[in-house]
Amino acid sequence: MTKRILFIDQILKDLYPHPKPFLKFKTPYQLLVAVILSAQCTDKRVNIVTRKLFENSPDPKSVLDLGVPGLIPFIRSCGYFNAKAKHIIASTKMILEDFQGQVPKDFNTLITLPGVGEKTAGVILIQAFHIPAFPVDTHVFRVVRRLGLSKEKSPNKVSSDLKKIFSKDRWAQLSMQFILHGRRLCMARNPKCQECPLLFLCPEGQKRTKAVV
Ligand code: SF4
Repeated sequence: MTKRILFIDQILKDLYPHPKPFLKFKTPYQLLVAVILSAQCTDKRVNIVTRKLFENSPDPKSVLDLGVPGLIPFIRSCGYFNAKAKHIIASTKMILEDFQGQVPKDFNTLITLPGVGEKTAGVILIQAFHIPAFPVDTHVFRVVRRLGLSKEKSPNKVSSDLKKIFSKDRWAQLSMQFILHGRRLCMARNPKCQECPLLFLCPEGQKRTKAVV
């Protein structure tokens, strides 16, 4: 790792020393549902929705019994509820029929589930199974590109770049730390570069503030 990368790594550790998973869940299946619901929805809202949903239907069998029409009233406030309900029911059916009711632990199998993209699969591997992955959501994508850590234009390629740059034991935490940084300082509009401890390492921040390195 170069000195610059080591600095970025250390500053993020200092800023966000104990990042915790944002979504609440008790089983890998519940996490899968929560991550599907989290697209275009806040984690806070998802946690409110899943608390009620899982009180009523905690496992694949009981969610499948709801069907799409029965599931929608629980998840309506998350947005895109029609598509999300269809994905959750289709994934649940596959889990019950093809995987003995268990969420697969393998990346390539996970992404065959409806509604599960590479980011979702990465979150599930890390948080449910403690298998290293580097999920890139909209915050990670924005922050690392501003920092010049990747020039790639797709989250999956950005994730590949990050995996080459940072050591495996840091992937899971760094993914959460970039998300926290994107929420707290490096917002999409009007990032707070003047307050950002990464400014001296950040090409985009220096352009915005015209700071002298
Ligand atoms: Fe984001 Fe600005 Fe910090 Fe760079 S300096 S990481 S653009 S907030």
